[in-house]
Amino acid sequence: MDMVLGIDVGGTSIKAGLFTPEGELLEERKIPTPALVSEAAYATVTGGIARILAAHDAVPEDVIACGLDIPGPVADDGTVGFLPNIQLDPEGLVSAVSSVFPRATVAFVNDANAAALGEMWAGVATEVSSYVLIALGTGVGGGVVANGKLVAGAFGAGGEIGHITVNREEPLTCGCGRHGCLEQYASAKGIVRLYLDECARRGVTPVEVEHATDTLSVFRALAGGDECARIAVQQMCDYLAQAMAQISCVVDPAMYLIGGGVAGAFATFAPELRERFSAYALPTCKDVRIEAASLGNRAAMYGCAYEALRLRGESVG
Ligand SMILES: [Zn+2]
Repeated sequence: MDMVLGIDVGGTSIKAGLFTPEGELLEERKIPTPALVSEAAYATVTGGIARILAAHDAVPEDVIACGLDIPGPVADDGTVGFLPNIQLDPEGLVSAVSSVFPRATVAFVNDANAAALGEMWAGVATEVSSYVLIALGTGVGGGVVANGKLVAGAFGAGGEIGHITVNREEPLTCGCGRHGCLEQYASAKGIVRLYLDECARRGVTPVEVEHATDTLSVFRALAGGDECARIAVQQMCDYLAQAMAQISCVVDPAMYLIGGGVAGAFATFAPELRERFSAYALPTCKDVRIEAASLGNRAAMYGCAYEALRLRGESVG
């Protein structure tokens, strides 16, 4: 019985999903791990997965593909770039996984790129060959799929939509060291900042925000008629629509999928986003579909499993 693994590698834990080759998720389990740089840590991961397999009457030899999604750049050829946010030795992890699951094709995929691929396997993009996923979360990530293939890029920066420049006048510095990136306005942090800035500009007291990424309070204020929240969300949509209009000139996708935590409020801001996009876009592509992503925080787990399965298909012929 063939099985596929999708392993979501985070800072303090990994989430492992066991799939059928058809894309049915059989089980997912969180495995707390120390830094993934030692044999003991690898054994914690592979041991945890072996137990999931056993619960489904499967053995390690049944695993034909194993995808690992990581928060960092992965180039078209699978090379892993610099990982600022997690401790991980890619080569060590691959050799540990390969020795426990001897039949498995192993693949690393950037997490936002993986989320895009997941939508093709089991989400809303199963019928679409060219689309772009934009994940609005703590940061802004993205994944570009063109003609059914992920565009990871020569340096692994394919889909770094969050760092498209949308405001050359921005004095604040982005995490990438540049200024005026989309992420500074359309991430959860960006939306909260736009709201607080608008309140300060008007000299009104903002609603209480619990933390720097508390968009829930901003959208709740918007629902309650808060004018500053309305302006903040308009600005967010404006910057996002500008970036999407540029992307369309390069990739011309059939569909945009909006994912990440902020997409919980998609129904609220979608009309504004669609309107601004069609105002900015090249007329040829102004009627593109703009929808919410469907797999939530499981998308990347699905997508890396799918990519490993596809790689296997290519190597088998
Ligand atoms: Zn940036």
